[in-house]
Amino acid sequence: MTVEYERRGPVAVVTMNRPEYRNAQNSAMTYALDAAFTRAVDDPEVKVIVLAGAGEHFSAGHDIGTPERDVDVSFERKAVLWWDHVGAEGGDQRFARESEVYLGMCRRWREIPKPTIASVQGACIAGALMLAWVCDLIVASDDAFFADPVVRMGIPGVEYFAHPWVLGPRAAKEVLFTGERFTAQQAKEWGMLNRVVARAELETETMALAEKIAVMPRMGLALAKKAVNQAEDLMGLRSGMDSAFGLHHFAHAHNAEVSGGDSLGGQDARSMRDANRTS
Ligand code: ZN
Repeated sequence: MTVEYERRGPVAVVTMNRPEYRNAQNSAMTYALDAAFTRAVDDPEVKVIVLAGAGEHFSAGHDIGTPERDVDVSFERKAVLWWDHVGAEGGDQRFARESEVYLGMCRRWREIPKPTIASVQGACIAGALMLAWVCDLIVASDDAFFADPVVRMGIPGVEYFAHPWVLGPRAAKEVLFTGERFTAQQAKEWGMLNRVVARAELETETMALAEKIAVMPRMGLALAKKAVNQAEDLMGLRSGMDSAFGLHHFAHAHNAEVSGGDSLGGQDARSMRDANRTS
């Protein structure tokens, strides 16, 4: 199974399960995550949802190079009402696909009416930041590291452009301009994380926090979550993200225009990983 689902009392634990590919997120995983979150929302026994990654790393981000990369596969669309990207061309194809599986899905998951906690260890890179950011709380182990290196592709950050809101404008610029990894401790100082704990205690600390929240009433939690999300949107999160999504797609289209159709600016999983290692 690409995604494991387990209920532990009032807590649903949703685990990305492609450890051999550092939990790289293909569309099969995206829709499996969506099904797992839907199951947790529908189960009246579930009060809190934990999102975790199996193995050494939370996630290396979007799948841009494993054998199960499935960018040309159709799935039943859930996030936006738009035509299927399969069979479309150029910017039409990219905009349809990314509106659904990246921006749309992340927004859909941010609106899950139950508290969500990301439990992060090891790598949390690029597209993986989006998964952690849509969760309400983030608990990370002290070995966790983060980066959004996609400016190297000529693209101004990942599709769910929450950087200025979750990091603050200056840290957001440093993260984007350098593409370098930053530590859990640094992320905590910037206000991106709730807790940094020892690697061996990540699971127990995450569960302890989830169980503390789970004693609160379901409706109170749902409304409190909505109130904070609405406040973030009033601070420009939603409209800022819409405008950044336009720049993001301008960048993909520019790359494709100047380099014979390659929207990733000549980069692939290997070159991104190598650049990341040396930085
Ligand atoms: Zn993109």
